Amino acid sequence: MALPLSLETTSAAPALGMTLNKSIIPIHYSLKIIPCPISFTFLGECSIEICIAEPTFDITLNAKELNIQTATARDHLSSTDYSVTATSVRYNIEEETITLEFPELLHVGTSWILDIVYIGLVNDKLNGFYRSAYTDADNNVHQMTTTQFQSTHARRAFPCWDEPSVKATFSLMLVVSQEMTCLSNMSVESTTLLENGMQQVTFLKTPIMATYLLAWMIGDFDYLEAYTSGEFNGEPVLCRLYAPVGLAIHGQYSLDLAVKSVEYFSRLFNIPYPLPKLDLVAVPDFSPGAMENWGLITFRTYALLLDEYGSNERKREIAATVIHEISHQWFGNLVTMDWWSDLWLFEGFATHLAYIVVDELFPDWDVWSEFVKRIQIVLAQDALRTSHPVEVGVANPSEITQIFDEISYMKGASVLRMLSAWLGQNQLLRGIRTFMLKFMWGNATTEDLWVTLAEECKVDVPGFMRQWTRQTGYPVLSITELDESTILVRQTLFLSTGDVREEEDQLLWPVPLALTTADNPTEVRNIMLDSKEMILKVDTTRWYKFNMGQAGFYRVSYPPKTLDLLGQTLLQQRVNEVGHRIETLSAADRMGLLTDAAALVSSGNAPTSSFLTLLKYFEDEENYMVWAELSLRLQELFSVWLEQPEAVIKALKEVQRRLFTKIVKRLGWEFPENEDQATGNLRTLAIRYAGRAGDTEVVNEARRRFRIFMTNRDMTIIPPDLRFPVFEIVLRTTVGVEEYEAVVNYYRETYLPGEKVVALTVLGYGHSLELIRRTLAFAISADVRTQDVLTAVSTLRSSVEGRAELWNFMRHHWDILYERHCDDIRFLDYFVLISVASFSSLERYREVQDFFAHKDRSSYERILATSLEGIRMHILWLERDRQDVENWLRKNGYLVDEQDHGQDQSKSSVSTLSDSIPLSAVNEASPSSATLTSSSNLTLAETTPTSMDIGDFNGENYRPPTCYYNSGLMVALDGLDCSQSSSFEEEPSFSQGAHSPTTTQVSTGTLLTTSSLRSQSRGPSSVSSMSASPNGSPAMPLYYYHSEEHQGDLPQQQHCGHAHSHNPGYIYGQAQTLEEQHRFLNEMPHENQLHQPQARVQSFTEQLQLNSNVVSRTPMTTKSTLTSRGRTLEGDMELLRVNED
Ligand SMILES: [Zn+2]
Repeated sequence: MALPLSLETTSAAPALGMTLNKSIIPIHYSLKIIPCPISFTFLGECSIEICIAEPTFDITLNAKELNIQTATARDHLSSTDYSVTATSVRYNIEEETITLEFPELLHVGTSWILDIVYIGLVNDKLNGFYRSAYTDADNNVHQMTTTQFQSTHARRAFPCWDEPSVKATFSLMLVVSQEMTCLSNMSVESTTLLENGMQQVTFLKTPIMATYLLAWMIGDFDYLEAYTSGEFNGEPVLCRLYAPVGLAIHGQYSLDLAVKSVEYFSRLFNIPYPLPKLDLVAVPDFSPGAMENWGLITFRTYALLLDEYGSNERKREIAATVIHEISHQWFGNLVTMDWWSDLWLFEGFATHLAYIVVDELFPDWDVWSEFVKRIQIVLAQDALRTSHPVEVGVANPSEITQIFDEISYMKGASVLRMLSAWLGQNQLLRGIRTFMLKFMWGNATTEDLWVTLAEECKVDVPGFMRQWTRQTGYPVLSITELDESTILVRQTLFLSTGDVREEEDQLLWPVPLALTTADNPTEVRNIMLDSKEMILKVDTTRWYKFNMGQAGFYRVSYPPKTLDLLGQTLLQQRVNEVGHRIETLSAADRMGLLTDAAALVSSGNAPTSSFLTLLKYFEDEENYMVWAELSLRLQELFSVWLEQPEAVIKALKEVQRRLFTKIVKRLGWEFPENEDQATGNLRTLAIRYAGRAGDTEVVNEARRRFRIFMTNRDMTIIPPDLRFPVFEIVLRTTVGVEEYEAVVNYYRETYLPGEKVVALTVLGYGHSLELIRRTLAFAISADVRTQDVLTAVSTLRSSVEGRAELWNFMRHHWDILYERHCDDIRFLDYFVLISVASFSSLERYREVQDFFAHKDRSSYERILATSLEGIRMHILWLERDRQDVENWLRKNGYLVDEQDHGQDQSKSSVSTLSDSIPLSAVNEASPSSATLTSSSNLTLAETTPTSMDIGDFNGENYRPPTCYYNSGLMVALDGLDCSQSSSFEEEPSFSQGAHSPTTTQVSTGTLLTTSSLRSQSRGPSSVSSMSASPNGSPAMPLYYYHSEEHQGDLPQQQHCGHAHSHNPGYIYGQAQTLEEQHRFLNEMPHENQLHQPQARVQSFTEQLQLNSNVVSRTPMTTKSTLTSRGRTLEGDMELLRVNED
């Protein structure tokens, strides 16, 4: 489109009143943090240099769960050393702010320093300043603490102006035990050893940056290091990869990637890497996939470390994640979004850039085909009415959290790729370079980028992009052939429910058509469709294709005849006379044909049989990505048809088996050395899908290898890439518990994060009722890390019974789940999604609707509405095409036994009244029409985080099952227990058999602490398991911590769950269900009865005094509030003051 530009400012800025008053601006923060490893609290001293632009009596800044002890404002340049102390603190819990009220007017000036002393929590919520722990290969438990501040959690660690545009510099000092390694954004400036075994570590001052990018970490780590060449980045930059002790050796792959990426981006942006060092750290407990803290990038261990058993898929995922985060060091950290509504631009760009870099580093990976595969997730999400625009206004923290979704990341990346295809990649990157130079060290909006690109490229970038980023959804192009040389192209809003209303179809997008015809298959005609319809001259007797290269974010609906011509083109383009493949249509284009056809049948634009027919053109396909896409589309069909009669399912499996068995026969089970990655991936995929379809040879071979592997731990018998499929096939096709238990044991035994995830994920494929229940119980047991609980249960969706049990589980435990996780949107979102989104019957639809009808849905309502809309789509699809699919299966010889079908009628869904689910029902479930939704993948009901349809795994948006449901840790948090014994200290005395005087202490706050239970299994104790409850019901497995030496050490009242007297050898029971835990917690003395607040602080003080002689105590009574796990404790708190000398 041509100039002139008509620019208007974006409407996505925060509304008035949503952010802090800008008449007070922070310049520099000096932070001193003294964590208490025993009480899980920390003492903070924060001195903030501020500018005051208007005289004021009070200062409001963000703070959450911080207990302010004193606050003083001083003018450090005034001759009289003028200072004024706040007389009161107002806590606004809802807005997460504190207001410091001063008795005197603070005058206008730039030399104010605000000194705040406060106490905070080292929580277990995986955000703010939180604690984690891991066990190394020698069974030593290592405690660590770390931070996660994006989006709005810096306020949990220090009072601040916690907004991305309020940038400042930071100086950090940590006072911790001398054995601990301390890391932060910058290098260590100095370390001072204190007399009491403590050290004071000071870090260099950071450059100006946003609060959410600050980070620190305290713990035991190993590391690898390397330097960049310095060729493009000023001087060589030290890059280190830190990991839990013993694991850094698995970091070489990521470290190499990091060094290459730093070089790449230094060159691309023409700006040297801005900090003196870059650390990548694998954190054992971590909520997102990774976080781009400036100079200290944090990752899930799984997202950073690659052991020798890592599959090719994981190599790709890790590369995408590491490069994404490193691109943020410039695009995000150096230039930062002005407000969270521009998050999409930075996430979308980082995602897009990662693909560009991976393509450059690994040209044979065919990343753009992978991109096409990946965006199918967001294309599905964006085809529901519950979707939202890429640019979306957000105000409060929960809204901000909800936009870390596929729309921000992948639709963002897609529209940028479309822009790149339109402008040319080099033009786009040149524009980005100009943009970076213009806004470095500052903030920018989406509009700022469009304007810069428009100036650079002399085209109407804003005009092109606004419709794509400000309108929800995308179009489908319907092609009508008017005669043999003319077609009509018409754009319509695409909805997967297929019921677009006239008033909804008023939206228009500028659509780059990228048309290629059979006359000239190498030419792409760049035509822009910027109206509703357009007539084009095309020879309709031969094939033609739109969206060549699949860079456009839209779908195309061809007449059946043309689709058939395109299919035949695939068959004809096999091999030329010298044996080389000639591909008229690239892999991406072939995937485009498939996915558009699949989407159009689920929306009712075409019958499902047309998709099944199209599959025949892919039988000889050789490209892995195309097969991967095909398998997902089949999977989607299976998921919706799952409750159909057995004969139909069997017939569909036969379709799948015939497609994939052929590949297994061709490629075999072995991975020859020097084989290209794509072939290896195709073998893995084919084995998995042939096995899922029940191919006898594949199943038998999988079982054979599984047996040898589990007997001898022979790692070579199942190559790394086949570990997941083999485990899955075995668990899917067995009803015995032996194999299941072998996997559980492997999970417990393996030390490698990747192997643990594989083992945990496949448990959900155990499909007997007993195994399903065991999986649910195991997921919430002490064996499973907080962050991994939902990983363990998400695969339960693969069976009808699993779906039903998961849904029952969620309903029965909802109140407790909600109470614990109401401020953890990711958990609730994902739990709701996996529990309900796969359903495809009217009964379930109503159950879901009824269940949530009278609940407070504010923190998950978008995902619920999206899930309901998805179920509605499934019902409509089934009702429309159930018969069509059966007819096709019969006609093609897959469905022969009429009798089977008849016998299984009872299993068939009885939902046939699509019109009884009116459109308005969706809105009823979600009365507030907020414009947010969360990441969902309705079409991939059965996908699992480790099968890694790459879409699930990228940077911070890695959203498998994230949560912190840990069966016991919360107890320690509640307690704020600062008395003489800690959960960590008492464990050894417990497990080593000392009849410790702290036994009572165990009972009050730490009995259920999972880490304590885990560590007790060391030494003379051991973990054993039982598979039935004492009353004989076929219930949850019970995991008892078995210690023969110490039977009876604990008073009876500490036992929980089941009676232990029946098992004298088992002294210690772990609550296996939420009810048990709840009951146990209720039976415990209330925390207020245990420890008066006064006592807490007293002991914290004593602890500090024990640990550090620089601490003294000045009593002062301050009315204050301390929030712990949603509860508010009010009390007289003592002031703790740390002398500066
Ligand atoms: Zn990111």
